[in-house]
Amino acid sequence: MRMIDVIIKKRNGKTLNAEEFDFVAQAAAKGTVPDYQLSAFLMACFLNPLSDKETALLTKAMAHSGARLDFSEIKIPKVDKHSTGGVGDGVSLPLAPLVACAGVAVPMMSGRGLGHTGGTLDKLESIKNFEIRIPAKLIHRQIQKLGVCMFGQTKDLAPADRKLYSLRDATGTVESRPLIVASILSKKYAEGVDSLLMDVKYGSGAFMQKLEDSKKLAKSLVNTAKLLGLNCRALITYMDQPLGRAVGNANEMYQAIEILKGNKALAPDYYEAVIETGAHMLVISGREKDLKKARQLLEGFIADGSALKKFREMVKWQGGNPAVVDTPEKFLKNAKLQLDFKADKKGYVGFIDAKLTGRAGVLLGAGRNTMEDPIDYGAGIWLHKKAGDAVKKGDVIATLYASDKKRLEAGAELFAQGVKITAAKPKPYKLVNSIIK
Ligand code: URA
Repeated sequence: MRMIDVIIKKRNGKTLNAEEFDFVAQAAAKGTVPDYQLSAFLMACFLNPLSDKETALLTKAMAHSGARLDFSEIKIPKVDKHSTGGVGDGVSLPLAPLVACAGVAVPMMSGRGLGHTGGTLDKLESIKNFEIRIPAKLIHRQIQKLGVCMFGQTKDLAPADRKLYSLRDATGTVESRPLIVASILSKKYAEGVDSLLMDVKYGSGAFMQKLEDSKKLAKSLVNTAKLLGLNCRALITYMDQPLGRAVGNANEMYQAIEILKGNKALAPDYYEAVIETGAHMLVISGREKDLKKARQLLEGFIADGSALKKFREMVKWQGGNPAVVDTPEKFLKNAKLQLDFKADKKGYVGFIDAKLTGRAGVLLGAGRNTMEDPIDYGAGIWLHKKAGDAVKKGDVIATLYASDKKRLEAGAELFAQGVKITAAKPKPYKLVNSIIK
């Protein structure tokens, strides 16, 4: 097969077959065709969008371009979730151990934060010595014994995606929906799960800002995942304002532990996101038929301490000190400088913009602009007030943490731009806008 023929076929709007997608994915992974031809292929796919069936074939080919995890000998449902990313979206941290309490396996592969959104791996690493680079053999063992493992993408998992993604970035082809879908799903398909819950966010802090765009992405993800034989559904969730109270790595880990302890009042919207997401995971995995029962089951695991125990065991398995669970404030320290952001008038917190909050978090040191930037785990923001809360002049809306005065001031300046105090109480927002099945 010749790359030029595949490019011309797609350029002319024809449908590509499995062999052709395999050829491209292998070439991308092994470096056997030049970047300019891969780039031309990507542009042809951008201009003549792939059908769902073609997207599934490309996804499969990309997943098979490296080593897939194989959990076939583990005879319980294997389920994961993927979020398109947001601000304060530390849902995965308590979710994975919580869902595993129901007797399903949760091999959760996660990513790092980039730009204004945080990443689960960085949050996990706010626990000293927590190991996320785990060889496939050990992931297997941990899943078999504990039912949950949270880890990072290895070099040989979907290598074609790494290559194609970097070329998309440089060729103006990132925004192609089928290419986004194939990129996201190739990593999940390679992970060897049989059910996948997608959390597709919309709003200022989301990958897709417009609700309609996030719904279209969710539909393509669900259709393609089903063609790959995965049980899949997508939740379309709100990300115009940050989720929960914590932004930043140690902060979000602290919040996660408190939620597992049953401290629901600390961050009710975050708690709701964890329970609702987990309940849908149990339903798609076949573990529970009824969403309400699934919610009750999960709430029971928090109430009786089993979810916290599972989390503690996971921390121990992955090299961290399990005592973090008992005294999180001792192990998950905030950065040494802090600044209170106060209400300048009486009224209601009308709106806190997610994107500006996320960008402020990066300025404080909690995130990164390039993959090489170091992370300050103690930097971040704690939201004492959320939209809808009444405030008096001088009330503290948020506390910002940084290790450096300049960073603290820059973060505070940007955060302030995103906070609106209104005379009228804002309408409450719905966390889950819709479900795409
Ligand atoms: N996330 C991915 O993994 N790939 C994309 O193309 C977009 C978001």
